Amino acid sequence: MFIDTHCHLTDRYAEPDTLDAIVNNAKNAGVGALICACAQPSDFRPAIEIAKKYDNIFCTLGIHPEYAGKEIENSFQDFLNNPKVVGIGEIGLDYHYGIENKKQQIELFKKQLLIAKTHNLPVAIHSRDAEEDTMAILNDSVRGVMHCFTGSWEFAKTMLDRGFYFSASGILTFKNANELREIFTKIPNDRVVIETDSPYCAPVPYRGKECEPAMVIETAKILSEIKNLQLDELESILESNTKNLYPKCHVKL
Ligand SMILES: [Zn+2]
Repeated sequence: MFIDTHCHLTDRYAEPDTLDAIVNNAKNAGVGALICACAQPSDFRPAIEIAKKYDNIFCTLGIHPEYAGKEIENSFQDFLNNPKVVGIGEIGLDYHYGIENKKQQIELFKKQLLIAKTHNLPVAIHSRDAEEDTMAILNDSVRGVMHCFTGSWEFAKTMLDRGFYFSASGILTFKNANELREIFTKIPNDRVVIETDSPYCAPVPYRGKECEPAMVIETAKILSEIKNLQLDELESILESNTKNLYPKCHVKL
């Protein structure tokens, strides 16, 4: 089975029929497990409820850098021992829209890395226009994945040395993504996972549509081409990578 290692489902929590359809579409497409990522504390409870409802859905809890500076105390503590919480994410740095709140972003990032370390959970890292600070802050004491990776080869090399995984999203299928495909060709096969980051980032040929986990297959197809692997070979590699990355993700293989 394929696993969408990073999708946002909490916006659909209040629409059980839509959520059922999304999960069924994924199953029918061969996407047997989903990891629902959080971006802010109000996502935590819905993410856990969704993971409770569906055997094949897990979640990561985290606060995206865009919420830096807001009160987050005690957001995590009630949930960290939940068996369906497989990691901390998404967390990181985003300087795309400016660096006015850089200090608060770094503070939030470090706090959450500490939570991950204390609870021995892997992290899902968001890093946009912030490679240097991300490399400076992340060290060998945490492990995890560079989610929706679109960074440079230099950045990739550093994070490879630190044992990180790299998640390919729909961006890998974009026409203008030659450089990114080149980088994923060089990343060792045992360090790659896939994701949709849905509802964002729909892959080719669905660009412009709302993305959903079933579409992760399109990223898998491109990845199998650039890695020169059969799709089913890639499928089993990605399954075992995901289990190594997220040991609490007990999917039946
Ligand atoms: Zn995300």
